[in-house]
This record gives sequence, C-alpha cells and structure tokens, in this order.
Amino acid sequence: MNAQRVIGDLRELQARTGTVDGAQRLAWGPVWRDAREWFRGKVAELGLGIDTDSAGNNWVTLPGASSKTVIVGSHLDSVPNGGWLDGCLGVLAALEALRMHAAAKPPVTLKLVDWADEEGARFGRSLLGSSAAAGSLKVDEIRELTDRTGVRLVDALAENGVAIDRMLDAARELKTTDARAYLELHIEQGPVLESMGKSTGVVLGTFGVERHMLRFTGQAAHSGSTPIPMRRDAFLAAAQTALECREVARRHSKPGAGVVCTVGIVNVEPKIVTAVPGVCEISLDQRALDPGVLAAMLRDAHEAADRAARDNNVSVEWRKVWNIEPRPFDPTLVRLCEDAVREETGEAPRLPSGPLHDAAEMVPHMPVVMMFAYSSNGLSHCKEEDTPEPYLETTIRAYLRLVQKTVAHVTSP
Ligand SMILES: [Zn+2]
Repeated sequence: MNAQRVIGDLRELQARTGTVDGAQRLAWGPVWRDAREWFRGKVAELGLGIDTDSAGNNWVTLPGASSKTVIVGSHLDSVPNGGWLDGCLGVLAALEALRMHAAAKPPVTLKLVDWADEEGARFGRSLLGSSAAAGSLKVDEIRELTDRTGVRLVDALAENGVAIDRMLDAARELKTTDARAYLELHIEQGPVLESMGKSTGVVLGTFGVERHMLRFTGQAAHSGSTPIPMRRDAFLAAAQTALECREVARRHSKPGAGVVCTVGIVNVEPKIVTAVPGVCEISLDQRALDPGVLAAMLRDAHEAADRAARDNNVSVEWRKVWNIEPRPFDPTLVRLCEDAVREETGEAPRLPSGPLHDAAEMVPHMPVVMMFAYSSNGLSHCKEEDTPEPYLETTIRAYLRLVQKTVAHVTSP
C-alpha cells in the first residue's frame, strides 16, 4: 500500500497537463488525450492494457480467480483551470489498488475505469461517458450540442474515435461484467469535512434535486400613490417564499445529512425604482438524500408559495426545470467504507454528496460507495483546489483499505 506513489503520480500529471492557472485536461481535447497517453504508460508498467469502449471510457482489467468484479475509478478530465485532484485522485488511487493486487492473481477480477467527460465543461453535458455505460444517456438530447466556439460535440467525439450513434453500445461493458461493487475516491469539493476537521469522509449517496421556476403575478402600480394594503406586490410574495423555503430545509435537515435549498435567480418586472413589482420570477433548487424528505420539502414549498401568494394578493405558477432522484449508496459498502476510514483516522464521518458523480450513474447497476478527501477552504474547479498532503496520504490509504475489504467481502460466498 503506497500512498506516496499515488501522490507522486498526481504531481507528475499536474506538471505534465497543468499550467500556472491549473489543470487543463478538458475532455476530448489534446491535453486530455495526452493525460490518457501518460496513464497508458503507467498501466503498461503493470503489463496491462487499456480497452476503450464506444463512449470513450477507458477500462483496465486485472483478471482474478473469479469473474466477480470490483470496479474502481473516476475521471481524468478536468474543467479548464481546474484543480489537481478532482477526478484524477480517484483514477490514480484506483491504479494503486491494481498495483497492490497485481503481484499475485487476485481472488476476484478488478477493473479500473477512467470515465470520459465527467465534467461536461465544454459541451454542458456532465457524466457523459458514465451515463452511456449506464444506458441512461439520451443521444438525441446531446446530438446538437456545440461548444463556445461553435464546434459540434459530434465532431469532437469523432476526432476521438467516438461515433455518437454507437455510444450506447458502451452499456455492453456492464452487461458482460459480473460487477459486484463500484468504489470511487473523490475530493469533497465543499467545506463539510474541513468544518469538522476531518481528513476523510464516508459518502452516503448523491442528493436528489428538484429544480423549479416560480412565477408570481400581481399588479404593477405607482410606488407613491398605491397604499401598502392595496398593493399586489409579486416580489414580496417571492421573497416571503424564499425565506420560508429556507425554514423548510432547516426543518427537514438531520445532522450529517443536511438538506439544502437555494433561490439563485430573481427577476422582477417592470424593474423600475418607482413601481411596485407586478411580476416576480424566482428559481428554487431543493436537494436531499432521502426521497421522502425531498418530496416533503417540495410539498412544503408549494404550501409556502400558496400562502405567500394569498398574503400578497397575487397568483403563483410553477414550472419544472429539472429533477433527479436521490442515489443512496449501498449500506454494506457504506459499512465497509466506515471501517476502512475508522481504521486509518480513528473515526468515520458520514456526509452526502451535493455534486453528482459518475458513481451516481452506477447505482442502478451495482452496489456503490464513494469516499471523500478534505477540500482546503472548500474550494474546487479552480487552481486553489487542494488537500493537505498528510490528509491526502491518510485518505488514499483508507481508500486502498476499502478496496481490500471489498475484495474480501465479494470473495466470501
Ligand atoms: Zn470530479
């Protein structure tokens, strides 16, 4: 178990594919291809090769005595000016797990995966490779995507040997694999572990999301001549709703599994300093790990908006923007993850993941768990992203322990 070798690999990759502004491994571009070429060399040192599936995901197989398979991995792609750990930490820790098991034939098969285009930073579709492998990708929804310079996704894919209409063939990989576990290490990208002063966290699952636009309609009127009781102020109704939704989130929040809710967009009309707002539109983004809690939060938000509309003599309409159900991780693997983290650090803090990860795409297909490393200042997707080295080493060791424990668990009948 050599955590220092993983850190050495990470620094080597950063030196090769980063600039003073951060990591530059934008998916489907030349630096990303170079990172994958570098990784191919690392894999070759183990006498192993890389298979690329029809969505561009890279797979390394270490055959074991049994076809039962433990999958380890994450993604090498980064956002432009990204951090040195987001994604590649999980891939290089997974490589160390293969090294650890390569000396003698392991009891079960190990597969490493480097997902293609987790970030969606160029074309706006995150989890591209993993959703193709999971079979959840809707090809017609991505066919027309272009980047900021007008390059079509279809052409960028073709440049990398990926035909958009064959991407879903990548689902074959999971269909022909007797997958028993998916284990992903990732940097937290938030301030929770830091606030607890902990190096390593056990991830309980990825949040479900309910995202809506709420449009309050009252009556625009003169700000000087309209007495307050006679107003139909759409902004005040929206503001009251936003404050009440914060209380809804607080009410449903449990320690260690906090729920969140955000009003990120506020538009008022007519947007004149001397006019009572006749229309106000706000966004509402609610997230929770428990599907029952998420549903209750949405119900409570509807009641809060209705009440605020009544109080202000306005009407309210909802428009759904997007939703995804929560993806809780496997209880047995969560327990193994707790054991691994506790053995390295003395305790096992549990937290949900606010961001989505490739792991979420694997949840319908096999038992999944993730482990998080501490994020300094909660920062990610920027050059300041960091985990202090002693914490990084501890977390990599905990992850390697998790792989060992999972291999043992899957091996036992
Ligand atoms: Zn990532």
